[in-house]
This record gives sequence, structure tokens and C-alpha cells, in this order.
Amino acid sequence: MTLDVVLASHNAHKITEFQKILGRDVPDIAIEPYDGPEPIEDGVSFDENALIKARAAAAHTGRIALADDSGISVDIMGGAPGIFSARWSGTRKDDENRRLLLAQLADIGDAHRAATFHCAIAIVDPKSGLEQVARGEWPGRVAHHESGDHGFGYDPIFVPEGYTVSSAELAPDEKNEISHRARAFRAAVPILQAL
Ligand code: IMP
Repeated sequence: MTLDVVLASHNAHKITEFQKILGRDVPDIAIEPYDGPEPIEDGVSFDENALIKARAAAAHTGRIALADDSGISVDIMGGAPGIFSARWSGTRKDDENRRLLLAQLADIGDAHRAATFHCAIAIVDPKSGLEQVARGEWPGRVAHHESGDHGFGYDPIFVPEGYTVSSAELAPDEKNEISHRARAFRAAVPILQAL
């Protein structure tokens, strides 16, 4: 039996990524984009915001819904930008967000530049009432300069633990195997397989 789910994202790239990764372990999954009304993301954690989006999509379609929320947390900044990552500079422009973060950390040495990418994937089944969140984390540190052309968002200034290059310098396939999103996907597989 096919598992029909909707994905609460307008990002075509994310839908392809979900289908590619989840399709390997949950072969009978069919993922469709959700294009109904969007809720206000007024949660105060990645989990809450992912759940808000998944609940809205499940309520509107009556189908199992998936939604993700992600961002970067810098230790010395008390976890900021965190849930504000996408608009840290007051705009949604990735280059301005990166520039601001680099400026804020300008005087901070390598030993105190630890940061972690977080991803929460919420799964909501409107029929059974099941609500679960799968999480993935990717530790590293904030670089002093931008490097690399791949990826998006904070990738050019994020150096994953165990690497000397930024996540924007990794081949996309390599990033997609080890990133916070990949780890959250893997955590979501058993939840989906049990549905
Ligand atoms: P979302 O689309 O609301 O989950 O926003 C996530 C924000 O966090 C993005 O706009 C990026 O700034 C940042 N982010 C999340 N995942 C990544 C990643 O894999 N690389 C770089 N930036 C990311």
C-alpha cells in the first residue's frame, strides 16, 4: 500500500530531497507538495515550528503531513540565530545573514566559534492523531570568511566538525549524506515505516 503524504514546503528542492532520501528506505512513499494556507510560525523552537506547519497541512488535507524547520545555533551567542536563522539580518537574504553573523563574531577566536545546524521534521497523522518529531544535528564552527559555492544559507561560513573546509565546499552528495537534514531524515524513517 502506498503511503501518501503531503510535505508542507514550497521549496521544490526540499521535496526532491525528501523523495530521494525517504524513497530509499520507505519505497512506497508518495510525497506531494502542500499548497494550502500557511500558518503563522510563532513557535519558539525548531520542533514547535515544524509541528505548526505539519498540523496545518494535515488539518487542511486530511492526509499525513511532514514539515521541517531548520537553522544554525552558535554556542557563544546563546543559541542564536536559532529559529531566526532565515531572517537574522532582518531580510531573507542569505548573504546579508552571513555577513551579519561574521561581523558579530569578528573578535571571537576559533576555540569559541562552535555552532550546530539543527533540523526538526514533524510528522502528523490526522486520523490517528499521531504527532512525532525526528531531529538531526550537525556540529561544527563558524569560519572567519566565506568559502565555497555549493549549498545555501550559512553553508559558506560553516565548517563541519572533522573538516577543514566549509559545507559549501563539500560536494552536494556528500553534504546530503552527513548534514543535519540527512540525520533527521534517517530518524524519520522508522516513524514513517510504522505508519
Ligand atoms: P527554514 O526554511 O525555515 O527551515 O529556514 C532555515 C534557515 O536556516 C535557512 O534560511 C538557512 O539560513 C538556515 N539553514 C538551514 N539549513 C541549512 C543548511 O543546510 N545550510 C545552510 N543554511 C541552512
